[in-house]
Amino acid sequence: MIIFTSLSQWQNFRKTLSDGPVGFVPTMGALHHGHLSLVKASREDNAFTVVSVFVNPKQFDDGGDFEAYPSDHKADLERLESAGVDAVLMPDTAQIYTDDYRFKVTESEFSQRLCGAHRQGHFDGVLTVVMRLLNLVRPNNAYFGEKDYQQLQLIRDMVAAFFMQVNIVACATVREADGLAMSSRNQHLDEKDRAKAAYLHAALKQSRTADEARQALTGQGFDVDYVEDIKNRRLVAARLGTTRLIDNVEI
Ligand code: AMP
Repeated sequence: MIIFTSLSQWQNFRKTLSDGPVGFVPTMGALHHGHLSLVKASREDNAFTVVSVFVNPKQFDDGGDFEAYPSDHKADLERLESAGVDAVLMPDTAQIYTDDYRFKVTESEFSQRLCGAHRQGHFDGVLTVVMRLLNLVRPNNAYFGEKDYQQLQLIRDMVAAFFMQVNIVACATVREADGLAMSSRNQHLDEKDRAKAAYLHAALKQSRTADEARQALTGQGFDVDYVEDIKNRRLVAARLGTTRLIDNVEI
């Protein structure tokens, strides 16, 4: 596994890659089995798999949340190596935002709803970094989790809108045994909230309506940002203490 902290070194190396498709898994690190399922899918489909580990400051509306985001490069690299990853990109912020974020990708409709309505500028940050990373890696296939369902839809739409030459592959949400969607943020939950967190998924599945799910979650002590049914999906964001959890299920 080759580790690139320099993007220019990566770009020179990328020119030498010619045999077979390249798969790409963008992440913010603190890797868990959800991330590794994307890596596995990429390894199955591609000759070469690239993973990026970059905590993107532009998608955090709250500086404290960015500062508190978990990070463990050593453990991440061990996991990626044993998962059979070929290259890891670990750039710093200055290399990604050489323009100081003068240029950004903005979507004006769906990105304003759900998580976008509660996190100012979040999806501008997400779409901008994904656009930059896709241009840097030039993968044939890029892998995203259904856990971040709104993000996945927006990335699909961006790729179509800008005629980008990459196939976006959606991967199913990987869950803990009690149903909680795996997330780097779960490690912030104390024991009591961790036990309660499983109820998020249960409430989504068991309630007849979004409103019923919202009431059930509020009753359990969640601070609910939204529960909404959109087409055949029920999506939720809710806080336990300072930890914000999201999930979605097919309905
Ligand atoms: P993150 O590091 O949280 O930005 O996530 C990087 C990628 O992994 C995104 O495409 C996420 O949707 C995906 N991902 C995160 N958690 C899970 C999970 N539990 N199951 C499947 N994919 C996930």
